[in-house]
Amino acid sequence: MTGDRAGDYRILHEAALRDYLAGVADLKALLGGDPASWAITEVGDGNLNLVFIVKGARGGIAVKQALPYVRLVGESWPLPLSRAHYEYLALSRQAELAPGLVPALLHHNEKLALTVMELLEPHIIMRKGLVAAAQYPRFADDITTFMARTLFFTSDLALSAAEKKEGIAAFAGNHALCKITEDLIFTDPYRIAEQNRWTAPYLDGLAASLRDDLELHVAISRLKLKFMASPEALLHGDLHTGSIMVTDGQTRVIDPEFAFYGPMGFDVGAVLANLLMAYFASAGHERTLGERQAFEAWVLETIEKVWTGFARKFLDLWRAGAEGDAYPRSLFPGETGAARLEAERQAYMQRLFADAIGFAAAKIIRRIFGLAHNIDFELIEDPRKRALSEARAVRLARAMMVETGTFRTIADVTVAARKLRDWQPELTG
Ligand code: ADP
Ligand code: MG
Repeated sequence: MTGDRAGDYRILHEAALRDYLAGVADLKALLGGDPASWAITEVGDGNLNLVFIVKGARGGIAVKQALPYVRLVGESWPLPLSRAHYEYLALSRQAELAPGLVPALLHHNEKLALTVMELLEPHIIMRKGLVAAAQYPRFADDITTFMARTLFFTSDLALSAAEKKEGIAAFAGNHALCKITEDLIFTDPYRIAEQNRWTAPYLDGLAASLRDDLELHVAISRLKLKFMASPEALLHGDLHTGSIMVTDGQTRVIDPEFAFYGPMGFDVGAVLANLLMAYFASAGHERTLGERQAFEAWVLETIEKVWTGFARKFLDLWRAGAEGDAYPRSLFPGETGAARLEAERQAYMQRLFADAIGFAAAKIIRRIFGLAHNIDFELIEDPRKRALSEARAVRLARAMMVETGTFRTIADVTVAARKLRDWQPELTG
C-alpha cells in the first residue's frame, strides 16, 4: 500500500485522475501500458461518493473519492471529507481481522479523500442479485465470519481497556456520519420531515400511524440511545446488501465510511433487515411460482444461518481466547466458575440478539418511510404491489421493535415473516 498526504483537495475527474494515478509508481505498474490508454468509468451508484473503475493493459483498480457534500442531495448538504479517512481506517482494520472478506487496499491520499482498492470483478452488488432472485450459497458463512471477527476482536472481550479506548478515540471524529444515521434512521421516519417519502397514497395511513405511535417512539428512542451511547465494538455502520459485493463463490464487504464504535447489534441487525426486505419484496417481483418459492426459502434459511452462524462463531472466539479486560477469568474459577461464565455468555448473546432484532426493525422502517429507499422495493413497478410488500415488512418490523422480547430465537422471526407473506393489509386510497 502506498500513502500520500500531498496536495490540496480537488475533485479528480477523468483527466486529473489519470494524471494522478500515472504519478503513483506502483499503481501505474499495476495498470500497465500507456496511461493515455487507460479506460476510466465512473460507476458510483451510492449515495455519497465518486467511484471510478480504471482499467489498463495489465489490470484494473477501483478509486473512491469523497465529495465535500452528499452526492444524493447536492452541495446544499455538506459532509466532511474526513469520512474517507475513517473508511480507509476501517477497511485496514477489517482486512486484518477478516482477511479476504474486504477489497485489498492499494493506496490512500488523506488530503484528496481518495482511496484506491482492488477492483472487484466480476462481483456485483448483492442487492441487485437478490432482486433477480439469485441465491448466494457462501454468503451466510462469509458474512458471519466477517461480523464475528470484526466485532469480537474490537470489543472489551478481546482488548485491554486502554486498547479499546484508543480504538474509540480513533473513530470518534466520524460523528457527522453517525448523525446521518441518528437522524435518518432513528428520528425522521417517526415525524414529519421534508425528506421522508413512501409509496403514496397506499401507505399514507401507515405513515401517519407511525407518527402517532408512542410505543414505537419509545422503542426507537431506546435504540437511538443505544446507538449513540454503547461503544461495544468497531462497527461497519452501514452493513446492508448494497455494501456487499458477491459472486457465487465470494463475498466482499465494501463501503465502511459509517464506521465507529457502537452497539454490535446494529451491524447484525442491518444484515437481517436487508434479507427480510428481500423476502417481502419477492412477492412483488415478476418471477415464476417455482422461482419465488425457491428464493424465499433460501432467504429465510439464510436469515436463520446469519444469526446462528454469527452467534456460534462469536461464542467460539470468546471461549477460545478472551484476552480482554471484561469478564476477568480470575472471577470465575474452577468448574463452577466456568459453568457460570458459560451461562453468562449465553445471556450476553440473548441480549445481543434482542438488540439485533430491534435495530433490524429500525432499518426496515427507514427504507420504507425515510429518505433512502432500496431497489428491493423500488423496482416493484406497480405501486399497489410495492405497498403490499412494504406494509407486510412494516408489520413485522413494528412487532420486532415494540415486542422484541417475544422473539426469543431467530426461528421466531422467520416464522413470523412466513405468516405475513400473504397477509392482505388495508391500504389507503
Ligand atoms: P458510496 O459510499 O457512495 O455508497 P460505495 O463504496 O458503495 O460508494 O461504491 C459505490 C459503487 O461503486 C458500488 O455500488 C459498486 O458498484 C462500485 N464499487 C465500489 N467499490 C468497488 C470495488 N472495489 N470494485 C468494484 N466496484 C466497486
Ligand atoms: Mg454505498
